[in-house]
Amino acid sequence: MDYFLDVVLPIPLEKLFTYKISQAEADFIQEGMRVAVPFGKSKIYTALAYRVHQNAPEAYQPKEIYQILDEQPVVTQIQLKHWGWVAKYYMCTLGEVIRSALPSAFMLESETLILPNKNSDVDERELTDDEFLVFEALQHQTALKISEVSDIVDKKNVMKLINTLVHKGVILQKEELYEQYKPKLVRYVKLSEQYEDEKQLAELLNELARAPKQSQVVLSLFQLKAKSIKPIPISELEKESGGSRAVIKALIDKNILEEYHIRKDRVQFEERSEESKHITLNEYQEKALEDINKGFDEEKPVLLHGVTSSGKTEVYVKLIQKCLENGQQALYLLPEIALTSQLINRLRHYFGHQVSVYHSKYSIHERVEVWNNVLKNTEKAQIVLGARSSLFLPFTNLGLVVVDEEHESSFKQFDPAPRYHARDAAVVLAALHKAKIVLGSATPSIESMYNARIKKYGYASILKRFGDVLMPDINLVDIKEAIRKRRMKGHFSEILIKAITEALDEGEQIILFQNRRGFAPVVECTTCGHVAQCPNCDVSLTYHQHRNQLRCHYCGYHMALQQACLACGSPTLDNKGFGTEQIQQELGRLFPNVSVGRMDLDTTRGKYAYEKIISSFENQEMDILVGTQMVTKGLDFRNVSLVGIMSADSMLNFPDFRAHERSFQMLTQVAGRAGRTKKRGKVLIQTYNPYHQILQQVTTNNYDGMFKEQFYEREQFKYPPLVRLIKITLKDKDFNKLNEAAEWMAGSLRNVLGVQILGPEYPPVARIRRDYLKNIMIKIPQKQSLAQTKNSIKRIEKSFNAISKYKSVRLVYNVDHI
Ligand code: ADP
Ligand code: ZN
Ligand code: ZN
Repeated sequence: MDYFLDVVLPIPLEKLFTYKISQAEADFIQEGMRVAVPFGKSKIYTALAYRVHQNAPEAYQPKEIYQILDEQPVVTQIQLKHWGWVAKYYMCTLGEVIRSALPSAFMLESETLILPNKNSDVDERELTDDEFLVFEALQHQTALKISEVSDIVDKKNVMKLINTLVHKGVILQKEELYEQYKPKLVRYVKLSEQYEDEKQLAELLNELARAPKQSQVVLSLFQLKAKSIKPIPISELEKESGGSRAVIKALIDKNILEEYHIRKDRVQFEERSEESKHITLNEYQEKALEDINKGFDEEKPVLLHGVTSSGKTEVYVKLIQKCLENGQQALYLLPEIALTSQLINRLRHYFGHQVSVYHSKYSIHERVEVWNNVLKNTEKAQIVLGARSSLFLPFTNLGLVVVDEEHESSFKQFDPAPRYHARDAAVVLAALHKAKIVLGSATPSIESMYNARIKKYGYASILKRFGDVLMPDINLVDIKEAIRKRRMKGHFSEILIKAITEALDEGEQIILFQNRRGFAPVVECTTCGHVAQCPNCDVSLTYHQHRNQLRCHYCGYHMALQQACLACGSPTLDNKGFGTEQIQQELGRLFPNVSVGRMDLDTTRGKYAYEKIISSFENQEMDILVGTQMVTKGLDFRNVSLVGIMSADSMLNFPDFRAHERSFQMLTQVAGRAGRTKKRGKVLIQTYNPYHQILQQVTTNNYDGMFKEQFYEREQFKYPPLVRLIKITLKDKDFNKLNEAAEWMAGSLRNVLGVQILGPEYPPVARIRRDYLKNIMIKIPQKQSLAQTKNSIKRIEKSFNAISKYKSVRLVYNVDHI
């Protein structure tokens, strides 16, 4: 009898691939285990076992697998089901889902680079011969491909060997560049056992009388020990005693001190404080909790609509407590890792060690650790707080999902595939686990509110801020008028300057919001009008003063700022528009003695960069924080009394059907950062158009008015949630070929689908990284089957791919494009 195994390879293949296995292997392999397999001419991949069967493939002669890598599945049945849904719904392959779902350490392949782990002390005697060979080779070479390891040990099957070496900490996998592995092994020190005895100790101090530095170290160690029972890191002893490492080392060498390690989890924890775990909800929160539970009883997802600072988090905490009491795991999704640092402290306050964090800025090792903890359902992984990818963790017993700030568009993955919406994928995940799910926001998306109104979702609301705090007082500042009357200094109206001055006098903090980073979007020649363009993309370069560079925000291209116009040579260059960097600089001139911080993509690249800015603002080391939409997210600063929006107009005028909804959300959210304690917060919005409907709705906190009006427009012009959108982007380096292919595609779609099709059209940025782009938008009415429409699109794609001249044209699907 022949046995076969279908596997999912982590590459975009339409179908599963089949390998030959022995009967023993067939008995052993379970779905969700990893296997190393050969693919193509010479590649080795880690693949996921999907199905064991006895039907030989017809189209090809199956190869044999190399190795089984796991004893137990690393992926659960529910995950496979969920990922299958993601692939199907978002029109991508299962392989693409797996590639983004599994930590890369799980999916080593022949091209993966491995490095020596310089930070670990390897005991060579504990290595097998093969392991030693690899270890040795890496002492002479900086990196090896896994295929090269094969040559070194002269074996075809090395995946298991590599996995073991990674596991033993002998080697590391090459990580994304910005992130170097940091050792987490802290060195501790204690007094040698013999000196526990007082007499011995007295003698020792006597002996050391002639070595005052050494005796000082010993005495300091005593003081530290008296202060706390916690282990004493060498670094602390060094600081406390004023003695150098050399002195401490001398004592260690003399066996007076003893050095030791405590192997630490990479993911660190704070202490739980027992007494403060109890929350009493106020009446509005209680009512919301009741309504949420009502929705849960009807097995519906529930939308929690609570104004900013209404205490949604405390309601979630109650739900999580209940979930844990039932012995189930909880998942808390956030749109942005920027938010985790504040929330993690709040959750650890209640749940201590039971909270794990998971997101893409964590190192490979940290991610693997969390993955395994979730899979094994350990104490540490009862609650996972994470960005969208935490949706793919191997929950075995999920009871509750919280999607916080559900309106955030960053829940949608844009690139690469799977282009999934984490909120929507979370609803499906919850259903698969029969878990409860709550979506929370102060400014719910039109989609979710619509689902609540048609009773597909349950609904709960909190309309008052917690603790009788008033909603902020929001005022509009007419800049057109201010300019006419010459009442502007740079980009600051007199009113805003006065408000800032007052807040500073009171010792309060200020947030200023400008939805654009950099210094000025464009540098224009006032003589000939030339604006420097990116050579790879169809956009103007943005001026970054700090580095004196022009940069492309799409591909990263940059050049030094020229002294004269590149076109006409005239030195009359001028800035148009403004970004966060320029605001920061103007503040420096207006308020010379005030400390100003900035939070945008440029200042938050490193691993802990967000955390540093946020905590330094929290600690009031800065008076003013200037930022892009990053500062609008649900941060909770206690001392901010004033929020200024530098310019609301570019947001409102953005050419997109969601621009008004987004502006409302963004402005309401950033306004919500003001006055979160007793004193009423103040918000000033500078605009050229103070009569704009959306701005009026923001100032009066009129969500319902906004919803009604936006919903009416979506009905009129047929936009979501009344239709489904699928965007197809075609890409090619050849402009003419792209246009022809796009026309062909749109024509075929029109012939077959019988739904409204827009385009092909150039997107606002029609060339990125040397590729020309063209979009086709498909609008699918609610009553039409989405699944069937997708099948028809796939069939058209097949015919498209059969046309040889379009071979180089790439198609990208974006389902529920936002
Ligand atoms: P939201 O997430 O709705 O914007 P938060 O959850 O941040 O609001 O709550 C605002 C503030 O009120 C927080 O500082 C929070 O600790 C406090 N708070 C909310 N509910 C309670 C409660 N029941 N007991 C004590 N403090 C609360
Ligand atoms: Zn570019
Ligand atoms: Zn010029």
